[in-house]
Amino acid sequence: MPIETDFFCRCCRTPFLNRYPLDEEGRCALCRAGLRGFDAAYSFGFYSGTLRQLIHIYKYGKVHTLDRPLADLLLRALPRDEPFDWIAPVPLHWRKLWQRGFNQADLLARRVSAHTGIPRTRLLRRLRYTASQASLSHRNRRHNVTAAFACRQPERAAGRRILLIDDVLTTGSTAAACALALKRAGAVRVALLTLARADRRIPFSSQASASEMEGLS
Ligand SMILES: [Zn+2]
Repeated sequence: MPIETDFFCRCCRTPFLNRYPLDEEGRCALCRAGLRGFDAAYSFGFYSGTLRQLIHIYKYGKVHTLDRPLADLLLRALPRDEPFDWIAPVPLHWRKLWQRGFNQADLLARRVSAHTGIPRTRLLRRLRYTASQASLSHRNRRHNVTAAFACRQPERAAGRRILLIDDVLTTGSTAAACALALKRAGAVRVALLTLARADRRIPFSSQASASEMEGLS
């Protein structure tokens, strides 16, 4: 299940079919242009097959006991040599939290915090309800989440290295918006840790339907 690829961006770890999208320093075009927001992105596997099913059962089947094995997968994807000051979950809007009853990113963040000893704090707040992104184009989707997050404790973020945790990385626009809010508050480094990421080397439609992918937030 873990991702195996010969060609991936040094910063965001996006896999590619060949080396041509990467510059001499191994960065993709988005990272080179500073458009990612975050400094690194680590994922255990691709959002497909068994891993996708597990994440679905966890979120929509509300099988909370899966948080321990899933957090173990997160820990396997986390580089051991990279220091962090805070672990912060990607927040849900209060309306979605109320509907689902729990924030899967927060449960995973708790486990990773307990295991690594890195303190967890809810640094981010979701300002807007970004419900129906599935119907939006990539560009509009990015615009839809920009400024959708705010840092609720800027004094805690300033000068700090932050590990953001979420379940799935799809376009990266949600993570970018979170990272930019933390950077605006003075964070020096923001890395993202997710269970799974969309494999954008193959057509989006053959991986999962857009509405299914949208369960991510
Ligand atoms: Zn990149």
